[in-house]
Parts: sequence; structure tokens; C-alpha cells
Amino acid sequence: MKKAIYPGSFDPVTKGHWDMIVRSSKIVDELVVGVLNNSAKNPLFSVEERVSMLEEMTKDMPNVTVGSFDGLLVDYMEQIGATIIVRGLRAVTDYEYELQIAQSNHIANPKVDTIFLTSSLEYSYLSSTMVREFASYGGNISEFVPEQLVDKIYEKYNIKK
Ligand code: ADP
Repeated sequence: MKKAIYPGSFDPVTKGHWDMIVRSSKIVDELVVGVLNNSAKNPLFSVEERVSMLEEMTKDMPNVTVGSFDGLLVDYMEQIGATIIVRGLRAVTDYEYELQIAQSNHIANPKVDTIFLTSSLEYSYLSSTMVREFASYGGNISEFVPEQLVDKIYEKYNIKK
């Protein structure tokens, strides 16, 4: 049984994240989408809100569940019995950082390995930071995030569309 975690901030979930969830859920037996509880970073959506958005989006995917964690990813993985980390690579700029965390996690727990999916071409430019920036100025974000999230994101900036 190959149980994997796809960890991230997901603040907010983008179409790039969604594409990663769909694709990786077909590769592993069980996928846990792990929302990082980064309250220190003053997130746009609380961890509870992000978990519930992801739960709604994945409710028809039988091998996908959603959880949240703070502290070390490898410790959370031990708790839930996952040994594979799924991460996305958009451009070479992601690579150096991702390589470092993947190797650190493997050293912290040699049972843990990271698999990388290259981002789909149409989403390779896309990040949560860019979505927040666009939304904060009332820009059109419908190409960037799943349709059901568009209004929720504008609401956070008190923007009525
Ligand atoms: P972090 O909080 O570590 O920056 P994010 O929550 O932004 O991470 O993203 C979580 C994971 O999703 C990372 O592996 C990141 O590379 C990947 N990811 C983010 N955006 C995309 C995208 N547009 N296409 C593919 N993977 C992506």
C-alpha cells in the first residue's frame, strides 16, 4: 500500500494544485493532502477553511483525504503512516529548494522518499502568491483557481464582483 502526502500551504488552492492532486492520486494508492498550519505567516484562509475547501473538492475521490499539520512533515507522516512525499516542480527555480527539502526529509527518515511531478504546461506560471496579488487588486482570477473558490477569495479582500 503506497500512502503519500501532498503537503503545501494551499492559500488558496490553485488550478495547479488541483492538477497535482488529480495526477498524483492516480499514481499512489492513498493520497493525503496535507495543509501546513502556518498561522505565523498570517494566511489569507485559516487552516480550517483550507481543509474544508479541499475536502469539498476531493469528496468524490475515494483514495484522497485531507489533513493538516504543524511541525515537521516527517513526524506527521510517521503518525499517518505515509512514506511518499509528492511535490510539484514548475521551473528550475523550484528545483534547488525542493532538492534541499527532499534530501533533508530523507535523512530525517530514510523510509521517506519524495516524488516530483512536473507541472502541467498551462499552470507552470501559477502560484498562490500570484493569485493573492491579483485578487487583492480585483483582477480576474477565474483562470487561476477552481471556479467555486473565486468568490470566497474576493470576499477576503472585501471585493464584490
Ligand atoms: P509552499 O507553501 O511550499 O510554497 P504551495 O502550497 O504553494 O507550497 O504548493 C505546494 C506544492 O504544490 C509545491 O510542491 C509546489 O511546487 C506545488 N505547486 C504549486 N503550484 C503549482 C503549479 N502551478 N503546478 C504544479 N505544482 C504546483
